[in-house]
Amino acid sequence: MRRDYFEVTHRDVMGRTGKLHTPHGTVQTPALMPVVNPNIEFLKPKELKRLGAEILITNSYIIYRNEKLRLDAVKKGIHRLIGADMPVMTDSGSYQLMVYGDVEVNNSEILEFQKEIGSDIAVPLDLPTPPDADRSLIESDMEETLRREEEAAKIFSGTENLVAFPVQGSTVPECRRIFAERARKIAERYDVKPVFPVGAVVPLLDSYRFSDVVLAIIEAKSALPLCSPVHLFGAGHPMFFSIAVALGCDLFDSAAYALYARDGRYMTVRGTEKLEEINEFPCCCPVCSEYTPSELRKMDKNERIKLLAKHNLYVSFQEIRTVRQAVRNKTLFELVESRIRSHPYLLNAWRKLKDYQEIIEKLDANIKSRFFYTGVESLMRPAVKRHEKKVLEIPPEKEVLVSDFGSGIKSDIYLRPCFGVVFPEIVESYPAGHAEMPEDEAIDREAIERAAEVFVNYARKYRDTTFKLRISNRKAWRPLLNRVKELKNVVVEDVCE
Ligand SMILES: [Zn+2]
Repeated sequence: MRRDYFEVTHRDVMGRTGKLHTPHGTVQTPALMPVVNPNIEFLKPKELKRLGAEILITNSYIIYRNEKLRLDAVKKGIHRLIGADMPVMTDSGSYQLMVYGDVEVNNSEILEFQKEIGSDIAVPLDLPTPPDADRSLIESDMEETLRREEEAAKIFSGTENLVAFPVQGSTVPECRRIFAERARKIAERYDVKPVFPVGAVVPLLDSYRFSDVVLAIIEAKSALPLCSPVHLFGAGHPMFFSIAVALGCDLFDSAAYALYARDGRYMTVRGTEKLEEINEFPCCCPVCSEYTPSELRKMDKNERIKLLAKHNLYVSFQEIRTVRQAVRNKTLFELVESRIRSHPYLLNAWRKLKDYQEIIEKLDANIKSRFFYTGVESLMRPAVKRHEKKVLEIPPEKEVLVSDFGSGIKSDIYLRPCFGVVFPEIVESYPAGHAEMPEDEAIDREAIERAAEVFVNYARKYRDTTFKLRISNRKAWRPLLNRVKELKNVVVEDVCE
């Protein structure tokens, strides 16, 4: 397995920005690949490039099936065929296999064809196991798909083309992990440049089953090599990009921009609106600046679809850039925590990560420039746990004065929501010192309870120390005052003001 084609430049949460080197140029990641259908006259690659595309995806099966297109593609190569002066990934017909149950090509034929037409990222004909499949189907699909991936590895071994090793496994998180482990092992045995797509997530995203997608990604990621790019296959809605990147996805593709446009659906980072129901556009892309929703509604259908598709792409690329910038600034947690508030199921999905703290902790950057508390999910950030670990190792004097941070009382230990114990020496450093959060009485009770937990653990660990507690805001710190009653070495003193 090669490692020289993907460079990681910045990291945050489990995500990263990077450079993906392909035979037809370098792409910055996370990247969004708009889908180009060679049969349909729609937005041309030149136009897609102007909108922000650095890499495209098209379907090699659609080309293969049409004799004229096939001969043309073999003669000119895929890039000239579709008029793209940028890298092109080619899909294999798996989607058609999922929708129609059958395709008129076998795995090695479609792979050889992709190689012949110069695809930058080729995809084997994997079996997209649907959601909620039973274990026996998942396992038989897995065996067959892995066999096809090995065939792909043989065909592309020693070439410059990248090749996809899709990870299936339906909605059983454990199967995603096993699949990822086995796909990785195949890639490791050959001289290939693998991309690992997490597959068959479209039906899940379409039905807002975001938790299933989050679990599929994190289980796959936990077994995949960190040096290889991961593609969330079929995820083209900007509302999910920040979460997927935070979980370690590097590539996205969008057929959604066109499919949604055809249905009169207008994408935003907060969800989807129907064109019929929009009074004014909230966006300032060239389309939304030039036209009003009612002008768009009165327009010729094809023209309207094109304009809506353009807006959908503008908003998608804008979000990709926003996410990349958040990774560079190490503010991806803050971005994700704001995005998940646009849909209750996104919130639910993100909270599932409570059970995956270890893997996030392993990958998340240690030092950041800021910690903005945006809600109870902020408590799940590794910085909170790391802070607790650190302070527990620092022993106190025989007798110490403890006060709430806002009290203004000069103390040996300050209490802050989320972090609990904060020493004066680290009051200026990340994370506890740099944390911006609501006032003690306005913050979520969970943040106070978390702080109480840290303080109680600390006082229990250092039993020979007497902790004199002077709390000025007793109402806010009630959960802590209740908990220290059981501790003999904590004395609650009155605050005279
Ligand atoms: Zn717009």
